[in-house]
Amino acid sequence: MSEKRVFLALGSNLGNREQNLENAISALEREHVRVVKRSSVYETEPQDVADQPWFLNMVAECETRCFPLQLLAVLLRIERDLGRIRSNAKRRGPRVIDLDIVLYGNVVMDTPQLTVPHPRLTERRFVLEPLLEIEPDLKHPETKEPLSRFLRAVSSQKIRKR
Ligand code: ADP
Ligand code: MG
Repeated sequence: MSEKRVFLALGSNLGNREQNLENAISALEREHVRVVKRSSVYETEPQDVADQPWFLNMVAECETRCFPLQLLAVLLRIERDLGRIRSNAKRRGPRVIDLDIVLYGNVVMDTPQLTVPHPRLTERRFVLEPLLEIEPDLKHPETKEPLSRFLRAVSSQKIRKR
């Protein structure tokens, strides 16, 4: 299988947030998910559960030979290795590291484990901004709409470049 271009969203709001992002990037490289470009780091207000620390978020453009579900398994393992504890009570709550697949080439898929493009991509300024910083002309693989079109609707979400 040839190399596929993927965009990953990284987030952390517990512990040493910068270090957690760096550790995740290093872990990706060790897993043969080659990081070719990284966005700035953004500090962002929590969206779904308000009463928790602010996040640091970034997007990384990567090249990998992993299939989508293999890549997800790699991400979940890295999250676990970096000390993320998943609990149902705290869904969308504070986390040491969150790794999401935003785009996987032009793949469109919807399975119980994995939905690509990420289902909340167009609603999240903390994903859209870093993504478009790396690649301003990206289009939604399903609708072909320029992703920049969605920025205006999320402009009230608080985020600042570090
Ligand atoms: P969230 O990232 O939405 O806050 P979690 O990180 O707890 O939530 O992820 C829960 C599950 O979401 C993962 O175990 C994974 O199976 C599923 N999932 C579905 N689509 C994606 C995607 N594009 N990227 C990462 N995880 C995904
Ligand atoms: Mg996640």
